[in-house]
Amino acid sequence: MGIPRRRLLQLGTLGLGTIFTGKTFAAGSKRVATGHKPLVISTWEAGINANKAAWNVLGKGGRALDAVEQGVMVTESENNCCVGLAANPDRDGFVTLDASIMNEHGNCGSVAFIEKIKHPISVARMVMEKTPHVMLVGAGAQQFAMEQGFKLEDGNLSDDAKKAYEEWLKKSEYKPTINIENSKGTAFAPLRLANGDWNHDTIGMVAIDTKGNLSGSCTTSGMAFKMRGRVGDSPIIGAGLFVDNEVGAATATGLGEEVIKICGCHLVVQYMAQGLHPEEACKKAVEKIIRNKKGDPTLKDTQVGFIAINKQGEYGGYCIQKGFNYAVCYSDDYNVLIDGKYAMQGPAL
Ligand code: ASP
Repeated sequence: MGIPRRRLLQLGTLGLGTIFTGKTFAAGSKRVATGHKPLVISTWEAGINANKAAWNVLGKGGRALDAVEQGVMVTESENNCCVGLAANPDRDGFVTLDASIMNEHGNCGSVAFIEKIKHPISVARMVMEKTPHVMLVGAGAQQFAMEQGFKLEDGNLSDDAKKAYEEWLKKSEYKPTINIENSKGTAFAPLRLANGDWNHDTIGMVAIDTKGNLSGSCTTSGMAFKMRGRVGDSPIIGAGLFVDNEVGAATATGLGEEVIKICGCHLVVQYMAQGLHPEEACKKAVEKIIRNKKGDPTLKDTQVGFIAINKQGEYGGYCIQKGFNYAVCYSDDYNVLIDGKYAMQGPAL
C-alpha cells in the first residue's frame, strides 16, 4: 500500500510503552502508570497514516472523537484491500462496508452492510448524533446516508479488488479463516503481497485527548469474499469496539466471528477495569478465544488482534498469532509500528 514503515519495534515481555513497578496486574496491585496524553493507536500499518490525521486533531488539543473519525477516514480513502470502497468484495462481487464509533459519553453509532458510501465511519457518527438509534444496516443505512448529504458512489470494483476477485472466482473457495501460507484463493485477509508486506485488514483506532476523554472507531469491508449479508465484529458495539470513559477503550481486527462470540472489546475493557494493563487485558481476551477453540483445527488459521488504551494513556495489543501490528502515536515525532505479541506459534510465514 506504499505506506512508509517508519520504525518497527520488537518489544520485550510486558514492555509496551509503560514501566511497571510491580510484577502483577491484579486489581489493587501497585504499579506506576507512565502513559501518554494525548495518544492514538490503530491497527495495522495503515494506522500510521491514519494516526497522522488523528494527531492533527489531538496535537492541537482537539477532541478524541474527532480524531478517531478523521483518522480512519484516511484509510477509507486509501486504496486498501480491506477498508473503504476500493476493498475486496463479497463473494457475489459487491463491496459492503461496516463501521462503528463510540464517544466519551458512552454514546455510539454504527452501520453495517452499507454499499456505495465512501465514509461509513461518518455515517456511523451521524447515526450516533442524529438518530435515536445505535445501528442502521443495508439499504436503510444507505438511505440515511444520502438523506444526510453523502454521495452515492458507483459500485465499480477497484482494479486491485477486481483482480483479486477474479483470482478468487477461479476456485470460489469459501474458507472463513485467515490463510497465512499463501494468498491464492483465500477467503480472508491478511494475505502476503508479492513485495512481502501484509495485505492488511480493518482499521480500528482508539484515542485519548488532552482532557483525558476517550473515543474509538472501527471501519472495514469485512472478510474478503464473505457471504453476501455477512456482518463481522467491527460494527458491533462491544465486539469490534468498546469505550468506557472511566476505564479505557479497545478495538479489534481479525476473524470477527470469534470476536463477537466473546464480546471481545467489552471483555478487554472489563479486564482493564479490574486493573489489568491494556496489553494484559488484550492477552486475556485472546486466551479466551483460544480456549473456546481448543481442539478446533481451524484455530491454527485463525487470527484476532486486540489493541487497547486505558484512562492513564497506557496502551497495548495482543494477537493469536504472529503477523499483527499496530501503530502508536503520541507526539509530532512519535508514530511507530509495533509488532503485536502473540499467544501461539502459527504456521511458518
Ligand atoms: N474483523 C473484521 C471482520 O471480521 C475483519 C478484519 O479485521 O479484517 O469483518
